[in-house]
Amino acid sequence: MPIAPHIEEEITEVDALRNKLETLVHDARRNEVTLRKFQNLELRLLSCSSLAELMQLIAHKSKSTFGWDVLTIILHDEHQDIKRLLRDVGEDTSRYPELIFTSDILQLKKFYGRFKKPLLGSFDGHAHENLFLHDRKFPRSVALLPLFRKNKLLGSLNLGSFQAGRFNKQDATDFLEHLAAVLATCLDTTIAQEKLKQAGLTDALTGVNNRRFFDQRLSEEISRAQRLQSSVSCLFIDIDHFKVVNDSFGHETGDSVLTKVAELIRAQLRNIDVVARYGGEEFAVLLEQSGQDWAEEVAERIQQSIAETTFVKDEDCSLTVSIGVSTIEKPNTNQNTFDLGRELLRRADKALYQAKQDGRNKVVLHSTL
Ligand code: GH3
Ligand code: MG
Ligand code: MG
Repeated sequence: MPIAPHIEEEITEVDALRNKLETLVHDARRNEVTLRKFQNLELRLLSCSSLAELMQLIAHKSKSTFGWDVLTIILHDEHQDIKRLLRDVGEDTSRYPELIFTSDILQLKKFYGRFKKPLLGSFDGHAHENLFLHDRKFPRSVALLPLFRKNKLLGSLNLGSFQAGRFNKQDATDFLEHLAAVLATCLDTTIAQEKLKQAGLTDALTGVNNRRFFDQRLSEEISRAQRLQSSVSCLFIDIDHFKVVNDSFGHETGDSVLTKVAELIRAQLRNIDVVARYGGEEFAVLLEQSGQDWAEEVAERIQQSIAETTFVKDEDCSLTVSIGVSTIEKPNTNQNTFDLGRELLRRADKALYQAKQDGRNKVVLHSTL
């Protein structure tokens, strides 16, 4: 029996409605899966305790989870304070090139304008080039998320896809906005945590590292030397007759002399070297990948620069230092890293003792380990 035209029409309408409903259910399920992935990432971001951990998660894990092809984070660091801080706590920022530091936040501010909203759309070679890594393939569509924390622009999270239509102007951005807010909070708090870590590893008077940091780095450097079959040198520096400075000019002047000595030592070192206040008027220096000849040269430069400095204005207050030098070359990989570090220190200390015995203002080398 033929179906009446009005019933046929109704069937078509019902089919259309069913299809629409199925699409909606499908979209809702997909959204739910995406939401769960975002929530999972956010929980993990919130539990990060170091910037390295945060970068590992955001630059690698999140990229594979969401299928983003490229990802970078621009972070405002006007005076390179964050970079210096990370170096001080022993973080190697070259391990995460996706984190790009900028001293110029105005450019980003102009870029996002008054809107705190993500910008989605096609990649614009001229406007977006500095947001991505030049040595990698540029994306074809991008999602650029301003990172705001307490109304302050900290930087930008830049996502890109090699597919032209992956990110579109009209796409909903709720998940991405939420992610940007969480990331901004995490960046701010992990940097604060790194600052705390740094405070625990810094000598409050002189601003150089403390003994705790030195001991930590000593083991790391020995183990690097074992891996690379390279050398590490250690200098033990003690100010000669420092008690006289305190007795003649008072403790406060003594304190500023100690700070100046620390500065003079630092000035003779490379960025990768470590200087720590090891005790009252004693400093220890760790020279990465340095043999005995280089260590001796550095020690002599330190000795000379201190001897040439006037420490107390208008007063005859010259100072000298005694320095013990020890070196370890191609350390055996089977030997205990901690024990090797102790032995390197013991030898530098012994050489320092010899320098004092020999009349002070001297550099003495210990035989190589
Ligand atoms: P030597 O050449 O044998 O090393 O003689 P010295 O006088 O340097 O050594 P000594 O160990 O007899 O005295 C170290 C002095 O360093 C005594 C101590 O008061 C002073 N000192 C240690 N820490 C500080 C500090 O933080 N501030 C000041 N102002 N003095 C300090
Ligand atoms: Mg001493
Ligand atoms: Mg002394």
